[in-house]
Formats: sequence, structure tokens, C-alpha cells
Amino acid sequence: MLKTKTLYIILSFLVLIACKNEAVDSKNNHAAYEKAWNNLVSANNDISFDSDIYLSESETILDKNLSDLRDSFIESMHQNQQSVFNKSFYELRPAIDTSKLYKIFSLMPKGGLLHSHSGGITDAKWIIAHAKEYDECYVYTHEDNASYTYGQLGIFQKNQVPKGFVSLGGKIKSNPGFEDELYKLLILERLTISGHMDIWGEFEKRFDRINHLLSYRPFFKEYYKKAFLDMLDDNIQHLEIRFVFGDLYDLEGNKYYNETIIQDLRDALLEVQKVDPMFTLKLIYSSFKFFDNESVGKEIEKAFQLKQLHPDLITGFDLVAEEDALNSLSYYRDNWLQLDSLEKVYGFELPLFLHAGESNSKNNKNLFDIPLLNNYRIGHGLNLVLFPELIKEIKEKDNLVEINPLSNQILGYVNDLRNHPGKILLRHGVQCSISSDDPGVFGYEGLGYDFWSVFMAWELDLSALKKLVFNSIQYSTLAEGEKQIALKELNKRWDTFIDQSNKLFE
Ligand SMILES: [Zn+2]
Repeated sequence: MLKTKTLYIILSFLVLIACKNEAVDSKNNHAAYEKAWNNLVSANNDISFDSDIYLSESETILDKNLSDLRDSFIESMHQNQQSVFNKSFYELRPAIDTSKLYKIFSLMPKGGLLHSHSGGITDAKWIIAHAKEYDECYVYTHEDNASYTYGQLGIFQKNQVPKGFVSLGGKIKSNPGFEDELYKLLILERLTISGHMDIWGEFEKRFDRINHLLSYRPFFKEYYKKAFLDMLDDNIQHLEIRFVFGDLYDLEGNKYYNETIIQDLRDALLEVQKVDPMFTLKLIYSSFKFFDNESVGKEIEKAFQLKQLHPDLITGFDLVAEEDALNSLSYYRDNWLQLDSLEKVYGFELPLFLHAGESNSKNNKNLFDIPLLNNYRIGHGLNLVLFPELIKEIKEKDNLVEINPLSNQILGYVNDLRNHPGKILLRHGVQCSISSDDPGVFGYEGLGYDFWSVFMAWELDLSALKKLVFNSIQYSTLAEGEKQIALKELNKRWDTFIDQSNKLFE
């Protein structure tokens, strides 16, 4: 034993001497110093999340063109004494819209939008324009109370309109400016990054204002068809929605439940597949972090029942709403432990896709539950950078982090996107994808703005963009066969995009 210990000490000493000599040699010898320096750069690059991507000749040309475009955009903003960073998306948006880079990001095939929410994915202007066509659509114009929120929309029989609601069409006719006011009430614009706002309170009001309208079955069907078409417009071929199931109604007094909701979504999907047969959809059954154990237990059972009937559509389970203010994931420990026995009863698994780490606080420990659970992807994972041991676990488990850059800025977690934790996770080799969370509520569609923003702020190159895009299919909940088809299609679309974009520089 003593012998082994002595040998160990001698060996450690020799290693130390060797390292020290190398360091001294490096300083005295330019070539060796350069070599050691380059080794450190390569060792770090090898860890990066995109280290397995090799660019083709035409991709390398586009990579250079994109990098030049970024430099010239920053330079022209500088010339106009405009800052590019540490600025809200809304302040920067006019410059983004007119940039050549944005044109290219619009063209780019995005693969899948893996993190989105029911009620937050369609353009609010379309919602108003479409809602006002219904004679039975009303808007609440009194002050907020426990039941209604100012600007809330709803569909009612003429003789059943609640107090405080007036006809939407009539209101807009008598006051054309109201349409614009209502738009501002349906989207959450954080115009400056320094201004104060009850962000989550205001955010949730946006959903309250359209929930009743969205439960009206005819509108529900149109809404999702429009949402799917928006995805096609932005070159998104696959969509996954954290879907909160709630009853639908019509004006004949009928109520519709989950089966009808699924059928209506399937119908909308089929309609959109007439435009793009490759477009696919999956739903992650979602409940709320303000529910108690008993309610979440019931929701988990409902998710199992629905997945049993629709295994091709329901792919997992999640809990949503403001993390820092509500129940922790460990509060639901009994529910997570119940999953094992339910999986035995039903004969299949219900993987988790939990929102975790949408926080800046080291006291938010939601990410600590992730390695212990059958969790495939993490929603946000912002404070993961505070827990190095968890980073290792997440990498070992090959969990993907769904990063929502603009959502994080708008909801106040990150002001300057150059300091977004996602940039660090990528460099640490954590697999990530880019999503837009609730683009409809943030006043835009699709994913182009999010990609534009991280390309600028994180100094991404085309390898990183490609990896982020392909991860969104690779880590999707598409079945293995569907995934292979989707990857093949994405490869084809990617190659076309490279050629098209390079032509823009000729
Ligand atoms: Zn989310």
C-alpha cells in the first residue's frame, strides 16, 4: 500500500515537472508556444455542440458571406450611431426587417419549431381581422375584474352577452383606432429593456384575452390552420405544441371535448399538407404549475388515455406557467413517481418535456429533477449554466435544451442577447435548438427573428446554424421512420437554400 502511494507521489511529481517544462519551453520557443496555444483552441472547439459538422465548399462560401454581412450590418449601424446589442427586439426590428441577413434567414429551412404553446402561435392582427367578421364576437370594454380582462374577446348569443361586452365589429366601426389599441392588448411588446413592467401579469392577460374566442370551435379550426400556414411561410416543416386541452363550444349550445379537438387539429393538418405534404405536427400534453398534486395526477392520466388513442400525435407531457412564482418540479415528485406504474398499466411510456430553468436564480432547482426523470428535452434551461455538474448529466443523457432567445429577452430574463446563457451552453457541448415560444404574443411569426438575433449576438457561423436546425428534427418526437423522412427532406431543402442564398451574393 505504502509502495503504491510512494509510486503515485513520484509519478505525480514527474508529471508536474513535465508540464512545467512544457510551459517554460513554450514561452522560450515561439513554435512550441503557438502549438500549445492552438491545441487549447482545438480542444475547446472539439467540445462545442457543433464539432461534428463539416461544411461543403458551397456552405463555406455562404459562411463567409454571412459573416461579412454581419460585419457590414454592425458597421452600418455604428455609422448611424445606432447600437445593435443591449437593445430591445422592438427597437431593432425596423433595421432587421430591411437587412439582407433577415432575407436569408427567412429563406433558411428551420426544420422544426419544437417549443411553442397553444394560444401563442398566430398573428394577433389576423385574430382581430378574423374575429370581427363574426357578428357574435364581442369585446370587454370595462375595467378588469375577477371574471374578465379589458380587451377580452368572446363569442356569445345575442341574448347572453355578459355585462361589459360590446360588439367587436360595432366598436371598430365607431372607433377605427380601437383595432390598433386591441392589437397592442393582444401582443406583449417590451419596447425598452430598462422599463418596468409586471411582465408575467401582462403576459398572462394576453392569453386571457383570446381564450374564450379560441374555444369557439369554428374559430379554433381557423386559428390552427392559420398557425400551420404561418409555419410553412417561414420554412418550418415540423411543429410541436405544448398543448393545453380545454373544451370547445358553439352557438348551438354544444360542447366538444378532446376527441373533437384532436379531429379538428388533424383536419387542419390535412388541409395544410395539401400545400406542403411534408409538414408534420406533434402535441405535448400540457398542464399547469399552479395545480396541486391531485389535479396534475388526473391530467397525467388523461394524457396517457389520449396517447393510447392517438399515439402518433400525443408524444409527451409538460407543466407550464411562471416557474419562479409557482410550484417547483420537486413538488410534483409523487406525480413523477406515479409515471412508472402508469407506464406498466398502459404498456407505453409518457416522456416528459419539462420547462425547467426559465430563471436567473440559483435557488430555482427545477433542473435538478431532470436527470432523475424520463425527460427528453428541456424548455429554456437558462440557469443550467449555474450548475456545472448538471451540465455533465444533461450531456450524458443527451437531453436537448430548447432555447427561446427573444422570449427570454421579452420576458425579462436576458437583456443583452450577447450574454444569453445559450451561447455558453453551445460552447460547453450541450445540444440545443432554437424556438420562439409564443411568437404570436410577441408580435411576430415563425423563427426567423430568433435565428437572426442569435446569429448576431452569439457570433454563430454556418456550422452552428446548421446544427441548430438539424437538431430540431433529430431531437423531435417524430417516430424513427418519420424522422428519417423529415431529415432527408431537410437535407434537400438545406442544399437548395445554400444555392439560393449564394446566388444573392453573385
Ligand atoms: Zn414555453
